[in-house]
Amino acid sequence: MPTFVDPNKCDGCGKCVDICPSDIMHLSNSIVSGRKAFNIEPNYCWECYSCVKECPQHAIDMRGYADFAPLNHKLTVLRDKEKNVVSWKIKYRNDMKNEFQFPIRTTAWGSISPPQSFQNPSDEEFRSQLLAHEPGYLKSERGLATATKP
Ligand code: SF4
Ligand code: SF4
Repeated sequence: MPTFVDPNKCDGCGKCVDICPSDIMHLSNSIVSGRKAFNIEPNYCWECYSCVKECPQHAIDMRGYADFAPLNHKLTVLRDKEKNVVSWKIKYRNDMKNEFQFPIRTTAWGSISPPQSFQNPSDEEFRSQLLAHEPGYLKSERGLATATKP
């Protein structure tokens, strides 16, 4: 689901505007409500949640994917640059809470090889269920991590 901004929490800092890869977070400057961010084109939202993780006011809301948060939950996510982690908090509809953190993955500027530097996949790789360059690029040689019940 695309993101949406709660204008009552937004202080107009513009961090979501700077980070949005789809360039759809914009700032309004209404005389009535002041400087507020809003998603100008939800249809073009990548649902990458970069804006959600970056917003210091927790003003951007979204619905988490159903595989980790069933409907009617409340999800809070924040990128903590001090601790170098992304923190997630889920409140389920039965009031159960779950919190977990992931390390922020940083990649040196210019260190990612462009697509044309990779070999074309073989016929066998095209028929595989794996994504291109998986497991090497996902570092998932031992299988993907799975969530456990809290
Ligand atoms: Fe508003 Fe958050 Fe965007 Fe800042 S990052 S402009 S507080 S929605
Ligand atoms: Fe932009 Fe990603 Fe936020 Fe969508 S989720 S508004 S694409 S930063």
